[in-house]
Amino acid sequence: MASEFDLIRRHFTRAPHHTDLAVGDDAALLAPRPGMQLVVSTDMLVAGTHFLADAEPESLGWKALAVNLSDLAAMGAEPRWAVLALALPSADEAWIADLARGFFACAAAFKVDLAGGDTTRGALNLCPTVFGEVPTGQALLRSGARPGDDLWISGQPGRAALGLAHLRRETSLAAAREDCLLALHRPQPRVELGLALRGLASAMLDVSDGLLGDLGHILACSGVGAVVDEAALPLAPLLATGADPALVRRCLLAGGDDYELLFTAPPAGRDQLEALGRSLCLPLHRIGQITDQATTLLLRDTHGRYSPVAAVGYDHFR
Ligand SMILES: [Mg+2]
Repeated sequence: MASEFDLIRRHFTRAPHHTDLAVGDDAALLAPRPGMQLVVSTDMLVAGTHFLADAEPESLGWKALAVNLSDLAAMGAEPRWAVLALALPSADEAWIADLARGFFACAAAFKVDLAGGDTTRGALNLCPTVFGEVPTGQALLRSGARPGDDLWISGQPGRAALGLAHLRRETSLAAAREDCLLALHRPQPRVELGLALRGLASAMLDVSDGLLGDLGHILACSGVGAVVDEAALPLAPLLATGADPALVRRCLLAGGDDYELLFTAPPAGRDQLEALGRSLCLPLHRIGQITDQATTLLLRDTHGRYSPVAAVGYDHFR
């Protein structure tokens, strides 16, 4: 019977495109292009915490890399390399082959080389580290928001949380069930949008723990406040699923796992951003404004009334 080491070598080795020395030696050799800063991020996925232990392995492989690439997208960085540390409870070859297929589908879609990794026997745990590049000084940070900037969100936040609620039988979705499950299992890192926002956005992050909670990070890092305009939130497509309106609202404002980009930009960039959304076929919603009231987050309802909100997101240690 093949060892886990052989299985990993069989299923996790692909010819590299832009790596000087990849899987097979003691370490990888990576060369960022001249004028570029290396952008590095790691995000661990643990069975029972981030996914169910019986999760479908091909989607899991995709998602493990995709959520890491989302962090590069949030910095305006171009993905280049990944390394993967993997703990597996058993050497199930069919399972490993499916995991690898999903991982490499995502790697191919975003032109990422797997440059190395490690595998060990243990509770199921996937820990990719990703490396990207950004022209020196052009990375988009959480700290750049200024009073008067518009607040934008990409795509359709809330779908992944609705998909999860469906799987947990907390709701049944009459429509768009597949879209919600795809958002949960195969998130699309907004890499192209992140690159296009260099020089346009003033601050950015990816929404992994919920829109309001992650917005709180921008407010804290930038020392600003924000008003979120409920009428501008993309609620209608979620309500069309037939789910309970209160659940829909909670999924949109506090649901994680969609990996959309939340960013701020000066109002002078509105036309350019609307054109950008059209050219990428990705809706960009202008959902509010940055204020000078440090870290105060207000919701303006459809009657024009303001109410303060606690930034609510997912905190692993809460
Ligand atoms: Mg992030």
